[in-house]
Amino acid sequence: MQDGRLSTEFANSLGQMEGMVLGTVLSFQANYYTVQLDTPHCLDTEDGAVTISTLLCTRRSRLKKVGQRVMVGDRVWIEEPDWQGQRGAIAQVLPRKTELDRPPIANATQIILVFALAEPDIEPLQLSRFLTKAESTALTVLLCLSKSDLVPQAIQESWCDRLQSWGYTPIVFSTYADHNLEAIAHHCQHQVSVISGPSGVGKSSLINHLIPDAHLRVGEVSGKLGKGRHTTRHVELFELPGTGLLADTPGFNQPDLTCAPSEVVQLFPEARQRLVAGETCQFSDCLHRDEPNCVVRGDWERYEHYLLFLDEAIAHQEATDRLRETESGFKAKTGEAGQTQYEPKLESKKYRRQSRKAQRQALQDLDIDRLMQDADLDE
Ligand code: GDP
Ligand code: ZN
Repeated sequence: MQDGRLSTEFANSLGQMEGMVLGTVLSFQANYYTVQLDTPHCLDTEDGAVTISTLLCTRRSRLKKVGQRVMVGDRVWIEEPDWQGQRGAIAQVLPRKTELDRPPIANATQIILVFALAEPDIEPLQLSRFLTKAESTALTVLLCLSKSDLVPQAIQESWCDRLQSWGYTPIVFSTYADHNLEAIAHHCQHQVSVISGPSGVGKSSLINHLIPDAHLRVGEVSGKLGKGRHTTRHVELFELPGTGLLADTPGFNQPDLTCAPSEVVQLFPEARQRLVAGETCQFSDCLHRDEPNCVVRGDWERYEHYLLFLDEAIAHQEATDRLRETESGFKAKTGEAGQTQYEPKLESKKYRRQSRKAQRQALQDLDIDRLMQDADLDE
């Protein structure tokens, strides 16, 4: 400020920097991004003042060259806004806080997980799968139970008590009976939310209530597997009344967990609680199965689900390791501390005949970056 110009922080706080404006990408279609401006612009026209709150933007080719993708939900700087034509160009993408794959959306903050109290009935294992998948994103998880009009109060309460013991406080609601929709809307304030859950639970009905402009078709399930129509990767963020954004496309309708075995326990709030309660397991690499003096193993309802998901995570890791071995010609070996190490497959004839020098060369050729990238993708 001393030299008479705005400091960057100060300019950022105003949402403006050297003729640039800051906004959030709401949608993408035919090479154009609709960007919601942090600070709406007031334009004087012959017909009076007009407030411009979104701009239709292209992506600067420089971004394309460096492989910088622009996603719905991205925070972006727009260059040279043409207020008259309501156009601009995206010049820079701010670092993402979160990134979801299905639907592809950046900077989401909350997952609203919807299950129906009836039609279809709640399957505890399926609910657990969705919950752990949601937990693995590190976003806030809001559990909502739909179709409260179909079940008596006592059953609603028993579900709430049961889920409380899983570490969740669900919101029971009904779009038919207009029950608790306000409460859900309230939880969406100041959030970028994505709705998830199995088919037929009322996700589209809920989205239509929260954002009347979305006009999603309700009750339309296609395909033999009962997959919803939302298999498309198109997604759009809608502004909610008040503040907050909501994705119009439900997320991951067939979740599978791909985290490391040691991370599975962190996806269960009631197990996390056992770990933070002060005590720790005897072994730092405890997988909480049959190790002595384990503080996680015990009498909690979803312990069985934990064991099942742990087995799946182990199987997934083994399959990934095998794939890497095949691709790289190196053998995955679990080190003493449980980390994965790679060594040449000496048992293979090809390597046995190789000289030491060739082996060393092969080691150097091993594309560590590529392996790391694969590991990122697997997560
Ligand atoms: P989605 O597949 O999760 O998007 O679910 P839909 O919104 O398409 O709804 C599936 C079915 O549940 C439709 O037949 C809806 O009419 C019905 N439905 C939605 N909300 C409610 C509700 O609050 N109560 C009842 N009884 N049925 C509902
Ligand atoms: Zn343990």
